[in-house]
Amino acid sequence: MRALQLFGDRDLRLTDIDPPPAPEAAEVQIRVRALALNYLDVWGFRGMAFAKRKMPQIAGVEAAGEVVAVGPDVTRFKAGDPVTMYGADTCGTCKACREGRDNLCENVAGIMGFHIDGFARELLNRPERLVVKVPPGVSFEQAACAPIGFGTVQHMLFDNARLEPGESILVHAGGSGIGSAAIKMAKAIGCTVFTTVGDDEKAEKARALGADHVINYRTERFEGEVRRLTKRKGVDVVFEHVGADTWNGSLLCLKRGGRLVTCGSTSGVSTTMNLMQLFQQQYRIFGSFGCTLRNIADALDKMASGLHPVIDSVFPLDDFQRGLERLESRRVFGKVVITL
Ligand SMILES: [Zn+2]
Repeated sequence: MRALQLFGDRDLRLTDIDPPPAPEAAEVQIRVRALALNYLDVWGFRGMAFAKRKMPQIAGVEAAGEVVAVGPDVTRFKAGDPVTMYGADTCGTCKACREGRDNLCENVAGIMGFHIDGFARELLNRPERLVVKVPPGVSFEQAACAPIGFGTVQHMLFDNARLEPGESILVHAGGSGIGSAAIKMAKAIGCTVFTTVGDDEKAEKARALGADHVINYRTERFEGEVRRLTKRKGVDVVFEHVGADTWNGSLLCLKRGGRLVTCGSTSGVSTTMNLMQLFQQQYRIFGSFGCTLRNIADALDKMASGLHPVIDSVFPLDDFQRGLERLESRRVFGKVVITL
C-alpha cells in the first residue's frame, strides 16, 4: 500500500509498504481518506528533533478515514463508520488518561507524524480508545481538521481560557488554521473578536468569518490598535501562537485580570517579560498543547451543526510537499488538506 515517508531534511517520498495485519482485540483498522496539515508537519519536515526520531518515518499528524475492519471484541465501531483519530499514542491507564486528559499522559509514546509514524498511509490500525466517530454531515476533509486544528482551539478557548459568551478576545493570525477556527468558535458564542492578519486580502476574509475588528499587523501596531479600540481597557482573552514577536504586545492588550492562552511560538521561543506587569495586572497565562478526546468529539459536533473549518486548499497525497510549502509560505487562509 502507499505511504508517504520522511527520509531526512525536506526529503519526503511516496513509498510502498506492507499493509497492517488484521486488527487485534480493542483495535480498529482505518482507511485514511484525508489529512490536514499543521505547523507540526512543517517542523518535522524541516528536521526538528531528527536525533530523537527513527527514519524513515510516515508523515501526517492529523487525519480522518473510514473503518474497514474491527478487532474481535470491538462494539463501538463497525466497517463503514467515518472516524478521526487522536494524534498521539497515549497509554490509557495513567491518572491523566483515566481522567480523560490524554494530552497530559505520563507515558505518551509520542506524537504521530512527528515522533512516531503518522497517518499518511492508506491503512492503519489504532486502539479503539483513540478513535472518535464522525457525526453525519461532516466530510472527511472537514473531520481531518478536528484532532489538532479544531481540538486544540476547543481546548485553549474553553478548557484553559474559559472564554465566556459576550467577552472580548484577540486572536492572532486570523488567517491560520487555528486562528480562523478560533474566530468562528468565539463568534459562535457571541464574543467580540479582534484579529491580526498580514495583508488586506486576509483582512477581508477574516471579516467574512465574523471578526469585528481586523488589524493588519504589518501596517499598524496591533497592541496600540486594540487599546485604542477598547478605550484603553483591553480584552478579556488573548489567543497566542505567534510567540516572541507578539508576546509583550499581547500582554499589553489584556485588561486587568485578563487571560492569555498560548499553543505556539512560530516566531521564536524566547522573550523577556515584565513580571511586575504580570502580577500587578493579575494576568493569567495558560500553556496549552493538544487536546482531549472530549475536545475532538465536541469539535466534530460543532462541525455537524454548521461551524465548518476554513479550508484553504486541497491537494492529493502526491502533492503533500506542495501543501507543506504552501503552509510554510504563509499564503494560506485556513487549513491545507490532503486527500487519499
Ligand atoms: Zn496515559
